[in-house]
Amino acid sequence: MKKNKKVKDIKLISYLKPYWIFCLLSPLLMAGEVLMDLVQPSLMSKIVNESISGKEFSQILPTVVSNGLLMLFLVVIGGFCGAMSAYTAGVASERFGDDLRKDGFRKVMSLSLQQTDKFTTGSLVTRLTNDIVALRDLVMTVLRMLIRAPMFLIGGVVMCLTLDVSFGYVMLASIPLQLVVVVIMVKYSPPLFSKVQKRLDRVNSVVQENVSGARVVKAYTNEPYEISRFDAANSAYRDQNLKVLKLFALVMPVLSIVMNIAVVAIILIGGYRAEAQAINVGDVMAAAQYITRVLMAVMMVSHIFQQTSRAQASASRVREVLSCEPVILGGCIKESPEKGTVRFEDVSFAYPESSGAEVLSHITFEIKKGETVAIIGSTGCGKTSLVNLIPRFYDASKGKVFVDGVDVKEWDTEVLRRKISFVLQKSELFSGTIRDNITIGSENADDEAVLCAAEIAQVDSFVSQMPNKYYTYVAEKGASLSGGQKQRIAIARGVLRRPEIIIFDDSTSALDLSTEAKVQKGIREGLEGTTVIMIAQRIASVMNADRIAVIDNGTLCAFDTHENLLKTCDTYKDIYASQMKGGSDI
Ligand code: ATP
Ligand code: MG
Repeated sequence: MKKNKKVKDIKLISYLKPYWIFCLLSPLLMAGEVLMDLVQPSLMSKIVNESISGKEFSQILPTVVSNGLLMLFLVVIGGFCGAMSAYTAGVASERFGDDLRKDGFRKVMSLSLQQTDKFTTGSLVTRLTNDIVALRDLVMTVLRMLIRAPMFLIGGVVMCLTLDVSFGYVMLASIPLQLVVVVIMVKYSPPLFSKVQKRLDRVNSVVQENVSGARVVKAYTNEPYEISRFDAANSAYRDQNLKVLKLFALVMPVLSIVMNIAVVAIILIGGYRAEAQAINVGDVMAAAQYITRVLMAVMMVSHIFQQTSRAQASASRVREVLSCEPVILGGCIKESPEKGTVRFEDVSFAYPESSGAEVLSHITFEIKKGETVAIIGSTGCGKTSLVNLIPRFYDASKGKVFVDGVDVKEWDTEVLRRKISFVLQKSELFSGTIRDNITIGSENADDEAVLCAAEIAQVDSFVSQMPNKYYTYVAEKGASLSGGQKQRIAIARGVLRRPEIIIFDDSTSALDLSTEAKVQKGIREGLEGTTVIMIAQRIASVMNADRIAVIDNGTLCAFDTHENLLKTCDTYKDIYASQMKGGSDI
C-alpha cells in the first residue's frame, strides 16, 4: 500500500496509555533490582579483602557473616524486584499487543473489498500476528532494559572508578569500541528486517492459497508446481533471515571478545596495582565484575536497537492497516417510507484497481416492491458487478443506485445491508454446524424460523436424513457437503433474514431443475412481498420472473417479460434459441 501522511500520524505508543502504571512500575522495580546487583561486588570485595587480611578466623567471622547475610538479603530483594518488573512489563506488553490486534482486526473487518484485495490475505495475516508480536517484544524489551542499561553503565563506571581511577583507561578503550559495533548494526539492520517481513507475507500467501485451494491442486496434480512455488518463497524468506543472522553473528562475538579482553585488562592492571599495594585483591575482583556489567549494558543497548529496527518495519506495516480508512463510508439515513425498491440511474462502473475499462455502462432500470426480476446474460457480461452495487460492495463510478428511493451512498451502510440478503455466486460456508451456517446474520432466530427457512430452501430434505440434523458439523468451507447442498444452505441463510430485497447471484446453478423449481416456489410463497433479484444462466430459471433484464457486454439490452423479450430482444432470442437447441435444458 502507498504510504500517506495519515500512516505517520497514528501513534502506536498511545496503545500503552491505559497501562501507564505498569509501564512506570516495571522500570522502577528494575531500578531496584539493578541497585541491589550493583552493591553485590563491593560486598563481595569486603569479604575477600577481610579473608585474605591475615587476621584470625574469629576476627574475620563477624564481617564475613554480616556481609554475607547482607548479600543474601539484597539478592532476595533484588530477585523480588526483578520478578515484579518482569511481570508488570509482561502485563503492559501483552495488553498492548492484545489491544493492537483487536483494533487491527476491527479495521480489517471495516475495510472495503477493494482494500482487502489490495493488501492480500497473506500480508494481512502477517501484519496482525507476526508484526504485532515484534512490537509487543519491543515494548517488553524497552520496559525491562531502558533503565537497566543506563544504570548498569553509569553505576558500573562510577563504582569501577571509585575502586581505582586507572580502570578508567580500560573503559575508555572498550566502551567506544562496542558503541561503534552497535552503530554499524543500527545502520544496516532495519532494511534487512523490512525485507524479512515482506518475504514472510509471500510464504503466508502461498500456504493460504494452497490450503484453501487444496482440491484444485489435487485435481490437477499440481503439487510439484505448488511445492516449487512454496520452496521458492520459503528459500527467499530463509535467505533473508540468514542475512540478518549473519549480521548479528558478526556483532555478538565482537561484543563478547571486547568484554573478555576488558576483563583481562582489568585483572592485569588490578594485579599490577595490587602488587604496588595501591588496591586490594577483592577490589580487583569487584572491578572485573563492574566492567562486565558496563559492557553488558552496551550489549543491552544493541539488543534494544536490534529489536527496534525489527519493530520499525513492523510498526509501519501495522500503521498502514490501522490508518487505512474504508473507502466506502455510510451516510446517515436510517429510515425511508418506501420499501423494497431498487433503481439504477445511468449507472456506469469500472473496478477501482483495474485498468479503468468500464464493465457496466449507462444502465437505467427500476425494480418495484415485491417484484421478481431476473438478470440474464453471457458469462462475464457484468451481472455480478451490477448487483454488487446494491449493497455497496463497490460504488458506481458514474450515475446513482437507489434502494427504497434513497441513494445507496446516503444510507447508513449497516441499515442498507440489513435490508438485503445476498446469496453469493460461490457459497461460502464457515466451520460450525449447519444451523450456525444458516443463522449467520440472524443469530437470534428460533428453531421454528430456521426450519421454515430450511424448508423454503429445500435444505430440510437432506438435513433431516443426517444423524445430527441441523447440529451436523460442517467441515471448513463446507468440504463435507455437495455443491448443491452448500447452495441451498446459503439460500436458507438469505431467506431466514426475511429481508426487503433478496439477491440470488446464480445461486441455484448447482440444483437440478425440479429442486430449483421447488426453491423458487418456496421463495414466491414464503417470502411474499419481498423483492427478488435473481441472476441465472438458464432460461428455465428466469422465464417465470415478472421481468427479465438482459445484459450484454455491460449494457442493458432490454427489460421486459419473457413473452415480450422473445418478440423484441435479439440477444434474449439468441440465448433462448441456443438453450432450446440443447434440448433438455428447458
Ligand atoms: P458470470 O456469469 O461468469 O458470473 P458476470 O456476468 O457475473 O459473469 P462479472 O463478475 O460481473 O460477470 O464480471 C464482469 C467483468 O468484470 C469481467 O470482465 C471480469 O473480468 C471483471 N471483474 C470482475 N470482478 C472483478 C474485480 N474484482 N476486479 C477487476 N475486474 C473484475
Ligand atoms: Mg457472476
